[in-house]
Amino acid sequence: MKLIAGVDIGNSTTEVCIGSFDDDGKVTFLASASKLTTGTKGTLANVPGIKAALEEAMGRLQKPVSSLSLIRINEATPVIGDTAMETITETIITESSMIGHNPSTPAGTGQAVGTILHIARLDQGREELPYILIADSSYSYEKVAELANQYSKRLNLTGIILQADEAVLVWNRLERKIPIVDEVKNISQIPEGKLAAVEVALPGQTVRMLSNPYGIATLLKLNADETKQVTPIAKSLIGKRSAVVIKTPHGNVKENILPAGEIYLEAGKTYVVNIDAGADKIMETLEEAGEVEDIRGQDNTNIGNMLSGIKAGMGEVSGETGGNIRITDILAVDTLAPVPIAGSLAGEACLEKAVGIAAMVKTQQLPMEKIALELKRQLNINVKVAGVEAVMASLGAITTPGTRLPLAILDLGGGSTDAAVIDEDGRVAVTHQAGAGELVTMLIQTELGLTSRLEAEQIKKYPLAKIESLYHMRLESGAIHFFEEAVDPKYFGSVVLLAPGEMIKLTQDIPLEKIAAVRSEAKKKVFLRNAVRALKKVAPENNLRNIPNIVLVGGSAEDFEVPEMLMEEFISFKIVCGRGNIRGTQGPRNAVATGLVLSYIGG
Ligand code: ADP
Ligand code: MG
Repeated sequence: MKLIAGVDIGNSTTEVCIGSFDDDGKVTFLASASKLTTGTKGTLANVPGIKAALEEAMGRLQKPVSSLSLIRINEATPVIGDTAMETITETIITESSMIGHNPSTPAGTGQAVGTILHIARLDQGREELPYILIADSSYSYEKVAELANQYSKRLNLTGIILQADEAVLVWNRLERKIPIVDEVKNISQIPEGKLAAVEVALPGQTVRMLSNPYGIATLLKLNADETKQVTPIAKSLIGKRSAVVIKTPHGNVKENILPAGEIYLEAGKTYVVNIDAGADKIMETLEEAGEVEDIRGQDNTNIGNMLSGIKAGMGEVSGETGGNIRITDILAVDTLAPVPIAGSLAGEACLEKAVGIAAMVKTQQLPMEKIALELKRQLNINVKVAGVEAVMASLGAITTPGTRLPLAILDLGGGSTDAAVIDEDGRVAVTHQAGAGELVTMLIQTELGLTSRLEAEQIKKYPLAKIESLYHMRLESGAIHFFEEAVDPKYFGSVVLLAPGEMIKLTQDIPLEKIAAVRSEAKKKVFLRNAVRALKKVAPENNLRNIPNIVLVGGSAEDFEVPEMLMEEFISFKIVCGRGNIRGTQGPRNAVATGLVLSYIGG
């Protein structure tokens, strides 16, 4: 009897499978383990992670690592993925014509229209006109309330705009309640004497009148031409809790297209596509180009710097330079990124159009032999670099109950989506596509404007719920779940992630529906597009219909919604597609490690 270990070193995870071979060459699987990969895949820094995973697996058997006869490590495909973001529009306000933001504590609700009057000039107000009062932070909330109350007897004050974060304090002291917008940083730029409309939304709602061009037209009495001009203003006020629109003759909100870089695809001839043409155009050009030798970006542009940065990073890992390191694939996705509006009065941000890019770099070879030697030296066990990753993954995937050949696997990892088809004769076709779980995390982070990458990763992994009372929560599906005991009051009213064994409270106040929509959309953008293009490349005659079944493996196949999305996509091709269950027990994990054990035939 011999104990053999298969070790799969991935960009994110190092997985181990232990099998025992009897004298007839029959294998029994005994244990598995998985650890986060230490260091960059393919470097000596991986060794501690490998040893930890081996110790964990052998620990389960209560045997020392030294009782292994052989360790087989994957011949890692020398590809790494990286992601970047390029914004392609910017919004500029000319002549301070609007304010729209989500102050933490607005006060009063409703709309008001009036001429803008500074608090210092209240005595010049005329009785017949409605006014909106503005006060900078040199006026205390007591003073603002006192003056407003005093002058309300003579003037028609309809709303207040404050620089300080004191709306509630002022509102509480008002004798006649009117809507107040606060936290307007650049209040000095608000033009006096102009007509303005103010709106503060009802609690839990967003503005209705000022995010609608006809609502603005109604309040400010605009004609059809003027209404057309304020449409971008209405658009940028969607989703805000409070807003001000000022009627200025030349005021406008403009959307500019930023100069973005070009991408050059080398495939016999050079194909050129500009980033600002959008993701669909970039992907179309890539498909048209066919087999790509290398991808470059225009010098001194974001995309150019990003692509050369990835190549440099890969050079350090592989010890190669120059022409040996090539970018062979990219995945572009359209996205929206919250960016501060140029010329804004209250730190407003606008969702600008952006393109997210994942790129994949290929070099001649990763120095896996060096890892094998080092492991051998440290453990004093035979170590062999054996088997191409995707072939091993296919071998592992076949152990999923209910599969048959020809079989396609989709390895949904962190940096890349890999596909392989293995036919009845054991022939394997393989492809690696840029873009997978990490790009999804990046899209979630940018679109929701999160500061923490970890939080984006958690949003990707766990379903959402809203804690509506101390005794119940509403799940994403709309179903209500009751708690047996009251939950900690800190959760009350907040959106949480249902992680195994704990509820994670989100740091920002974003509606559950919005988070769910951004999350699912990000997964679709990355995995649907990549699954289809990867499978087309490896399918016999490039036709998806020639694939009878697809087994999903890798970390992102553990996702709670991605396998269902792919299943729905492929149902129209009459393909059986689902999350793998390696050896009937491992779920979508451990395919490569299992394949490495299975492919051992003595020696
Ligand atoms: P690699 O083979 O490159 O090491 P993995 O197969 O371990 O990669 O996949 C890593 C990816 O899987 C990461 O992007 C991670 O976010 C994702 N992932 C891991 N667990 C889950 C989960 N439960 N739901 C969704 N994604 C997951
Ligand atoms: Mg992997």
